[in-house]
Amino acid sequence: ANGRWDTIWLAGLRDTEPSTIFDKIVAGEIPATVVKEDDKILAFKDINPVAPAHVLVIPKLRRGLTRLSEASPEHYEILGRLMVAAGEIAKDESLGFGNGARIVVNDGPEAGQEVFHLHVHVLGGRAFSWPPG
Ligand code: 5GP
Repeated sequence: ANGRWDTIWLAGLRDTEPSTIFDKIVAGEIPATVVKEDDKILAFKDINPVAPAHVLVIPKLRRGLTRLSEASPEHYEILGRLMVAAGEIAKDESLGFGNGARIVVNDGPEAGQEVFHLHVHVLGGRAFSWPPG
């Protein structure tokens, strides 16, 4: 019921989409296994991993980035931070990475997106086929 207010508090007046479960993770309202964090991004283990290593990297403030196809030049900096963080995670042996990774953004329901707060999947610890399913 108060999702809209949560969104305004967390992400500013421009973001009129309802808040998602990821806002609650950023706010510490629900637990997550955080593996990397700075002032702008948060990376945590996926609750339902599809590979031995599966980390999600998100912007702490969504700011219109419900999905990648909503990105515009105002997002250049945060998109760069997300990708650099994903690349660092993808080689972190302590997390089960180190032998190549599949780095994925699902854009929209038809592509499998379920949470409408942009997130980069970093998958590793096994081989990946191409084309993806
Ligand atoms: P999507 O399908 O939107 O690309 O990916 C959403 C991902 O978020 C899924 O892999 C799902 O397992 C993960 N996820 C959904 N809810 C939670 C949660 O509460 N905690 C964590 N750690 N991951 C979640």
